[in-house]
Amino acid sequence: MEDSFGHHISYLRISVTDRCNERCAYCMPNEFQEWLPRDGIMTYEEILRVVRIAADLGVTKIRVTGGEPLTRRDVIPFIKRLSKIEGIQDLGISTNGTLLSNRLEGYDTAAQALSKAGVRTINVSLDTLDESTYVAITGRPYLNRVIEGIDHSLDAGFERVKINSVLMRGRSEDEILELVDFSHKRNLLLRFIEMMPVSSNDVLKDSNFLPCGEVIKSLSDTFGRLQSRSDYKTNGPASYYMIPGRDQLIGFIGAMTNFHFCESCNKLRLTCDGKLRPCLGSHLEFDLLSEIRCGASDERIANFIRGVVAKKPKEHDFLSNYQPGRKMIAIGG
Ligand code: SAM
Ligand code: SF4
Repeated sequence: MEDSFGHHISYLRISVTDRCNERCAYCMPNEFQEWLPRDGIMTYEEILRVVRIAADLGVTKIRVTGGEPLTRRDVIPFIKRLSKIEGIQDLGISTNGTLLSNRLEGYDTAAQALSKAGVRTINVSLDTLDESTYVAITGRPYLNRVIEGIDHSLDAGFERVKINSVLMRGRSEDEILELVDFSHKRNLLLRFIEMMPVSSNDVLKDSNFLPCGEVIKSLSDTFGRLQSRSDYKTNGPASYYMIPGRDQLIGFIGAMTNFHFCESCNKLRLTCDGKLRPCLGSHLEFDLLSEIRCGASDERIANFIRGVVAKKPKEHDFLSNYQPGRKMIAIGG
């Protein structure tokens, strides 16, 4: 599928829940309490049907996300079924890592179960290595669990384990080098993410914002000039750089400062309540679940998906005084 700006759409991010066992303020503002009603959440059968139709239309990559996807019951058997859908070549998951070490019947850990279910790449969020900063960011004392979960993921046989680290002035700012070293020692692919306006305005104020360019400069001051590796691509919008003298790539997801950010966008998002969104940084969303529950045929659903692709904007609206309607937790990161 191609949109009107030449974006080739092959990637669907699916949020399976808006619930989470952590409380990161940049994703879920303090006052946020309204979980979506359970009967408005897509069933696994409904999601699988959408993915089968999307795969026929050319979607080859899926990422399961949330909220925290591992909090939804029976998510692993669901993922196993997803991985078997014809045409799906790449299946990933984004998780906060807190539940990866859990023992599951028949497996050593949840990480191992995910790998065996067909997940190829796992993204674990980790913004800090300091316990008190971790609590300040996520509202929960789970840093050790997350590190344990990362180590279990490294043993679980994934093709790649990535770390997603949201940049925050005054919080993660002083820990850039520690995060780089932590990732180097464990052979993790670290990506720094600029904070986007998808929570409440007080969290997202300028004084909390740390641009990727500043981190690239500070790493260059330490290691020598980082070398751009525009030939290296994962599925998402990260730009990668090599640290000289070390065989370590670092990714930067600079939605707010990289003016070319949207050019290679290949994504659609499906929220857990069945809204199809052509762009994270746009208020556009289309109610696919109502179509499904009104008895739409596969062909009608395929046309619906094509219609959403046709409405994909050229670029996000984050730089135009964007006011988040839905918060990140309710869209799916
Ligand atoms: N719970 C899982 C997790 O934390 O990885 C998956 C969902 S979370 C919404 C997906 C990603 O979005 C995480 O890496 C998180 O750090 C990132 N994220 C959340 N809010 C963000 C914001 N305002 N700006 C940039 N990234 C954000
Ligand atoms: Fe939960 Fe992930 Fe959002 Fe943090 S970023 S509140 S862990 S969904």
